[in-house]
Amino acid sequence: MDNKKKLVEIINRLKKEYPEPKIALNYRNPFELLVATMLSAQATDVHINKVTETLFKKYKSAKDYADVPMDRLKKDISSINFYNNKAKNIQASARLIIEKFNSKVPKTMEELISLPGVARKTANIILSNAYEINEGIAVDTHVKRLAYRLGLTKHEDPVKIEKDLMAITPKEDWSNISHLLIFHGRKICQAKKPRHMECALYDICPSRNI
Ligand code: SF4
Repeated sequence: MDNKKKLVEIINRLKKEYPEPKIALNYRNPFELLVATMLSAQATDVHINKVTETLFKKYKSAKDYADVPMDRLKKDISSINFYNNKAKNIQASARLIIEKFNSKVPKTMEELISLPGVARKTANIILSNAYEINEGIAVDTHVKRLAYRLGLTKHEDPVKIEKDLMAITPKEDWSNISHLLIFHGRKICQAKKPRHMECALYDICPSRNI
C-alpha cells in the first residue's frame, strides 16, 4: 500500500475509534485559543484547562494581557512549565495584536508566526480550530512519533514531517489527521509502551513489533 492510500485507511480507521476528533484545550474565542496553545507547550491539556478556567475569568481581552504587570501574569500561570517565558510571549503577542492587527488574532500563517513564541504548530492550531483554515498540519510530539512509527515520514524535524504529511493527506483532513494522531498517541500508541495488540492500525503499521 502506498503512503497516500495508507493515510486514507489510517484516517478511516481512526475516525471510527475517535468519532469526534477535536482539540482538547478549552477556549471561547481565537485569543483564548492562542493563550491556551502558547501555555500548552510541554504541559498537559488537562492542567492547562484547569489554569485557564480561572485565567480566562480574570483576563478577558488582549488589552488585559497587555496591561497587566508582568509579575502578576507570571504568578497567575506559575504552575505551568516555562511560565516565565510563556508570560513574556503572551504579553508581547497581546501588545503586537493590539498595535498591528487591530486587536484581532491574525488569520494568516505569515502574520501568526510574526507573534513572539508562535511557530508553525501553534499557528496551524489557531488557523484550523479558530478560523477553519487549513494551511498546514499541526505537528506536536504525538503526531511526530506516530507519523514516524507508521512509516509516513523518515524525518524527525516537525517542519519536514508536516511537509510529508501534507503531501499525502487530503486537504479537508489536515486538521483531522492531527487530532486523530494525538488521540491515538495518548490512548494507544504511547511513547514508552505502545499497546500494539489493542491498536486498530496493527496490521498496517511497520512498527508493530517495536
Ligand atoms: S501498531 Fe503499535 S506502533 Fe503501530 S500505531 Fe499501533 S500502537 Fe503504534
